Amino acid sequence: MIPGKHSIQSYNGPLRLRADVAIVGAGAGGCAAAAALAERGLTVVVLEEGSHWNPADFKADTGFAFRHLYQGGGARSLRGNAVIPMPGGKGVGGSTLINSAICFRCPDEVMRSWREDHGCHTIQDATFNEYFDRIWETLGVGVNPMSVQRNNNLIFREGAEALGLKGAFMARSAPGCQGCGICQYGCPSGGKYSVDRTFLARALATGRVGVYANCRIRKADTQGDRVVSVSGVTTHPDYPERQLPVIVEADQFLLSGGPIGSPLFLLANGLADNTTCGRHLVVHPTIGSLARFPQEIRPWSGVTQGYYVDMWDQGYLLQTYTVTPDQYFLVLQTRMGEATMEVMKDLKYMASAGVLVHDEDSEGRVQHTPAGPDLSYFLGDLDRQRLIAGLRQTARVYFAAGATEGFPGRLGLARIERESDIDAALPMDISPAELMLYASHPMGTCRMGVDPATSVVDPHGKVWGWANLRIADASVFPTSLGVNPQVTTMAMGLMVGHSIAS
Ligand SMILES: Cc1cc2nc3c(=O)[nH]c(=O)nc-3n(C[C@H](O)[C@H](O)[C@H](O)COP(=O)(O)OP(=O)(O)OC[C@H]3O[C@@H](n4cnc5c(N)ncnc54)[C@H](O)[C@@H]3O)c2cc1C
Ligand code: SF4
Repeated sequence: MIPGKHSIQSYNGPLRLRADVAIVGAGAGGCAAAAALAERGLTVVVLEEGSHWNPADFKADTGFAFRHLYQGGGARSLRGNAVIPMPGGKGVGGSTLINSAICFRCPDEVMRSWREDHGCHTIQDATFNEYFDRIWETLGVGVNPMSVQRNNNLIFREGAEALGLKGAFMARSAPGCQGCGICQYGCPSGGKYSVDRTFLARALATGRVGVYANCRIRKADTQGDRVVSVSGVTTHPDYPERQLPVIVEADQFLLSGGPIGSPLFLLANGLADNTTCGRHLVVHPTIGSLARFPQEIRPWSGVTQGYYVDMWDQGYLLQTYTVTPDQYFLVLQTRMGEATMEVMKDLKYMASAGVLVHDEDSEGRVQHTPAGPDLSYFLGDLDRQRLIAGLRQTARVYFAAGATEGFPGRLGLARIERESDIDAALPMDISPAELMLYASHPMGTCRMGVDPATSVVDPHGKVWGWANLRIADASVFPTSLGVNPQVTTMAMGLMVGHSIAS
């Protein structure tokens, strides 16, 4: 392994690498773990199937972003009692390249449940609070100024305050945010601090880390209870047929391929059993709503996701969001029928926000099949009702802020014209298939625990049955989190990295 950044442009022949630790996947978990390992003196090779990126490479171009930065070209989805798009990132930085930079610490009661109900004694408040402080400092986390929040966030705050709801501007890992509203395409100003520019940059600065982009790892070779090497091929963004072999030897291996990539790798290589691995997928099911205002909102301008309303006690959060006009159209044209063109024509008068549910009785599964990955998720009745309650609450917030019409994410519902119509337009028996669902927070498919019969990794992230194979990503969460997961994923990366080093 040669320290520094490497990519397809510099690969002239087969790659044969060696380091103390090999990390597969350079997302939130993998990059934080790389920093934790390098600072303790270990050499690390990081392998990532996507490319290295600079802020100047990013642009407001859906085709470009989906092709280069998204798993499955942006078309990844879940089957089940509804079809749910489930985007995920690809590239050095993983999903943090395309996320909205929202930062929440793992709630105390979730950490307590992971300790007390799942036996994860490593999830101690004191240790994790130190990790959260470190993440705050490393990623420059803070609330962005009013000047970049703009109308889409301000109007939601106005409605929430009128109703006396508990809300706040969210802390974000984007200290230099300019409010261009295209976080999901990569941040072109560099104002967002994704993990490649923070944790991984610090790891690289030690001189002990080599980051090999454009390497897809497929296979693990084992001897006894040890992994001896992993192997795969190089990936070329423009010429997929041009592949070179990659083989990596290490003393310790860390999977950080995310909650879809990590279980698929284990299952494809027979490293874990499908009675536990890939099960318990939770995703924070989400639905968006729009509302029309008499005044201009210009929802595409401002912090992508700036303000939230805390409905934690009822199992959900409301969060503002924006996407680019072509993304509004892509969603609306298939789902809102005739109202679509009207909404698009008046998009500058619209505001948008979503409800994010803390999965309680929903569950999904990641399966490796000869035909490829099979990703499923079944929305439970309680979670379905939470989503509907959240849609109603979002509509109330908008009417309280002066909206003249609401457009919640229910298929076949053209509009809600007045506040008094909300409950009738959104009855509690709407079926999952009628809800316009979205899921960008997969978690839990390699859950941590103390019993190999019900978990995939032990409380230190070690895969049951293997002496030198660990996981550090959002797949190890024992349950759904209820808040946006990047910070808790990074904290897991730090914890598992330190555990390997010690
Ligand atoms: C559109 C979007 C918006 C989001 N917004 C927020 C937000 O505002 N706040 C928040 O807290 N969370 C947000 N999230 C979620 C958050 O980004 C993720 O929970 C977090 O990044 C998960 O980290 P991870 O390490 O598990 O996986 P990832 O960050 O997804 O990284 C996994 C990496 O592994 C690579 N990989 C997988 N398999 C292989 C293989 N076999 N070989 C080589 N490489 C491989 C992938 O290409 C990817 O780069 C968002 C997610 C999305 C998709
Ligand atoms: S909204 Fe802010 S963080 Fe997001 S892409 Fe634009 S400048 Fe970057």
